[in-house]
Amino acid sequence: VTLLRARSGIAFRAQAGDGVVITNTHGGQVVDTWILDASDPDRHASAAMTWMATRRLLLREGDDLIDTRREPIARLVADSSPGDHDLLVPSCDIVRYRQLGVEGYHDNCRDNFFEAIASVDVPAPANVPAPFNLFMHVPIAVDGSFEIAAPRAQAGDAVELTVFRDALIVLSACPQDIAPTNGIGVAPRDVDYEIRPHG
Ligand SMILES: [Zn+2]
Repeated sequence: VTLLRARSGIAFRAQAGDGVVITNTHGGQVVDTWILDASDPDRHASAAMTWMATRRLLLREGDDLIDTRREPIARLVADSSPGDHDLLVPSCDIVRYRQLGVEGYHDNCRDNFFEAIASVDVPAPANVPAPFNLFMHVPIAVDGSFEIAAPRAQAGDAVELTVFRDALIVLSACPQDIAPTNGIGVAPRDVDYEIRPHG
């Protein structure tokens, strides 16, 4: 089990068939998650392709994550959290923090993504892909409106993904500490992740 520090990102490789477990160690923390094909970083898990396949704007245990070429790249095989995993909200970035009144630098998931990719020998896509926001609670109303609410994930809640191909996994422990993304008045927290090798 490896610690991912609050506000930071990581990129690591997983082989076809491996499981990747992401644990909300202290509860509440949102983890922006990307899964890229190790041989082609422009081919990655796509929120839009996934909801097109599932006809649901939420992820459920057993759902396949569909890539930008409409093929499954991973599956959500286990989920002990309340099941809130947002597919709508883009990663936070410095512009978002400017809009929220921050004047200096603020850690953000977009920069975490590119810094993490730069730490491994894989070319980065031109733009940050839409993330799978694990543990992010974004209730969607019947009129189509949505809000960003405090997460319901408790300490120890975890999700397990299995990758179908050799993949690059990128995680960002979201540093949002102004909007209620990670809880109201709660500082961003560490999470843990673990690769479970196939077989
Ligand atoms: Zn973020």
